[in-house]
Amino acid sequence: MNCPKCSSEKKIKAGSVKGRQRYKCKECGCNYTVELKSTAKPDSVKKQAFQLYLEGASFRSIGKLLGVSNVSVFNWVKKLSKEAQETNINEI
Ligand SMILES: [Zn+2]
Repeated sequence: MNCPKCSSEKKIKAGSVKGRQRYKCKECGCNYTVELKSTAKPDSVKKQAFQLYLEGASFRSIGKLLGVSNVSVFNWVKKLSKEAQETNINEI
């Protein structure tokens, strides 16, 4: 992540705000934040994958649909089905 104003890579860490890393640009002095987990998929996508799994879709076809690997889908389904059992709720 470069500075949104001047595109400089020169930056210093300036703490974090609400789960986002905050940076201060050394070139122009502006502050900006970046998501700490920018590569992670949001929960809504994981729940969608789980829903598709419940409807009978394969890991591979779900992954293709959502643009992730079938391994990711498998891990989400495993995690969500475990959570569903533990909390005993039907709303997934
Ligand atoms: Zn800058």
